[in-house]
Parts: sequence; C-alpha cells; structure tokens
Amino acid sequence: MSIKENLEQVRQNIANTARKAGKRPEDITLVMATKTVEPERIRQAIRAGGNIIGENKVQEALKKYEVLKDEDAEWHFIGHLQTNKVKDVLKFADMIHSVDRLSLVEKLDQRLQQEGRSLDILIQINTSHEESKYGVAPEDAVSLVKQTAKYDTFRVLGLMTIGLFTKDEIKIRQCFKVLKGIHDTLINEAINRVQMKYLSMGMSGDYQIAIEEGANMVRIGTAIFGARNTPDAYYWPSEKTDADRARQA
Ligand SMILES: *Cc1c(COP(=O)(O)O)cnc(C)c1O
Repeated sequence: MSIKENLEQVRQNIANTARKAGKRPEDITLVMATKTVEPERIRQAIRAGGNIIGENKVQEALKKYEVLKDEDAEWHFIGHLQTNKVKDVLKFADMIHSVDRLSLVEKLDQRLQQEGRSLDILIQINTSHEESKYGVAPEDAVSLVKQTAKYDTFRVLGLMTIGLFTKDEIKIRQCFKVLKGIHDTLINEAINRVQMKYLSMGMSGDYQIAIEEGANMVRIGTAIFGARNTPDAYYWPSEKTDADRARQA
C-alpha cells in the first residue's frame, strides 16, 4: 500500500476507535513518527495530509528539516533529548514531547531566553518503569510539572509516554491508565501555565488501546511508512534491545 493509503487507513482506524470510545475523531491529533524515513517519503506523507512530523534524533531531524522546511507541517521532537542538543533542537522544533528532567528544563529555558521565545512542551513519564530509563518516574511527575511551570518560557501542554513493549494488552493499558491518572491529578491541581491539553500516547501497535484510555495525540510510524531497518535500540539507546524483547516475549 502507498503512504497515502496507509495514512488513510490509520485515520480511519483512529476515527472508528474514537467514536466507539465516545470521542470526536477530529479531537485526536496524529503525529507521524518519521525516524529513518527519507525526506521524499515524508514529503509524500505531508502532501497526503499528514501535518505533524515527529523526529527522534536531533541531527537526523535537522537534515530533513533543511529539505522539508517549506512544506506545510509542524515539527515535534519525540526522542530522548540530551542537554548538549538543546540549541540544535530549537532550530526546528515547534513542540518537544520528551521533557523529563529539571536539568533539561534549565538548559531549554536558558536557550529560549537567549532567543527571546517560548516553547510548547509535554512532560514524558516513564509509565513502564523497568523497561526504560527515559521519562520521569510517575511518582515524581507532578513535582517536575510544577517546577517546570515556574519558567515562563514554557507552555506545558500535556504528558507523553511510551507504553510497555509487550503483547500483554493489560500491561500496555496499565501504562496508559497511569498517564491518564497523572493527567487528571494535574487538572485538579490547576497549576499556573499548565494546560492538560494533550495526552501523547499510542504507537502503531497500541494506538487503539491508547485512544480507549484517553489519548488525544498518537505517534505513528510503522503503520504509515512500513517497517524500519534500523533497530529501535539505536533510537532508544538505553531501552531494551529487540533481542531482549524477543527473549522476554
Ligand atoms: C518510533 C516512535 C513512535 C512510532 O513507533 P511505530 O511503532 O513505528 O508506530 C512513537 N513514539 C516514539 C517516541 C517513537 O520513537
């Protein structure tokens, strides 16, 4: 199937799942996860109506941005962000989904102040604990959001998580429930400059579950662009490798 057809299929699935869950399809935002995808194929996807690009690696994203910056698309950064990449990420990112520690918040704030601009961010939470070291621990999430909200360079617009890599749907669902729970807590806390507008959760293998659990932003790569050759371990260096996962499955 072509990228266009895949994209239409994904949108159909999102719409059907949303309706079944009592939500409006147009309230679910699709981010196309474009790591490893060549610029010309990303261009096809944009022209087929995909209007948000999500990239994982700063240097890779910058190269693609050079080629594609005149296309009508928003650029989100969804990968692990090292503090020494802050200057470069701000060359292209309209939103960062993966803010997960105070040292990063401080670095981003410094740079944003220098540039005299603000930034939309999501706080990444590690809802699967044992699998990953990225993302703030659920028990520390509210505190990180509060501290981040003190910097007026940010608009905290929600939360992001990566669900557990497993075939066990109950465990995947549990991750999403944890994120939704923190989201609800934060709504009750009504923190200045924090809007719980987006719950970014769900990928090709689990976006339907995520939508059922309250996601309104899904990040989808494989289902649009096909399988990747590069192992995910390259993009998530500290995550378990595919071999580890296979052993575990
Ligand atoms: C790669 C990636 C996705 C999309 O994964 P697929 O399984 O290809 O849909 C979503 N979120 C993040 C953070 C990613 O790195």
